[in-house]
Amino acid sequence: MQVSEETFMGVPRKDIPWCPAIDYEKCDYCMECDEFCPHGVFERREGEEKKLVVAHPENCVVFCKVCAKTCGPDALSFPDKTETLELIKRLREDKRDG
Ligand code: SF4
Ligand code: SF4
Repeated sequence: MQVSEETFMGVPRKDIPWCPAIDYEKCDYCMECDEFCPHGVFERREGEEKKLVVAHPENCVVFCKVCAKTCGPDALSFPDKTETLELIKRLREDKRDG
């Protein structure tokens, strides 16, 4: 399934900047977040300094934050929900106004 081609609240998913950000100062590469998320948002990088990256942000379910609960060191953060909602509304209005 091509999640990235879907829309959310009438706006193309790719236009909505919602995904986790990894704080590499805190991440201990336990991979709990990657094991938990069923949407292929994260990708492991063998032999690289950053052993886990957010490779497919558009696959993240808008307003989901559940993987953060699996993260012991609290290394995952998300955009502000209210601001994201405002952005979605603006994008929707722009679309309506043509
Ligand atoms: S917030 Fe949800 S969908 Fe997004 S990466 Fe985490 S578990 Fe996956
Ligand atoms: S759960 Fe947290 S500490 Fe573990 S790999 Fe993910 S971001 Fe890093």
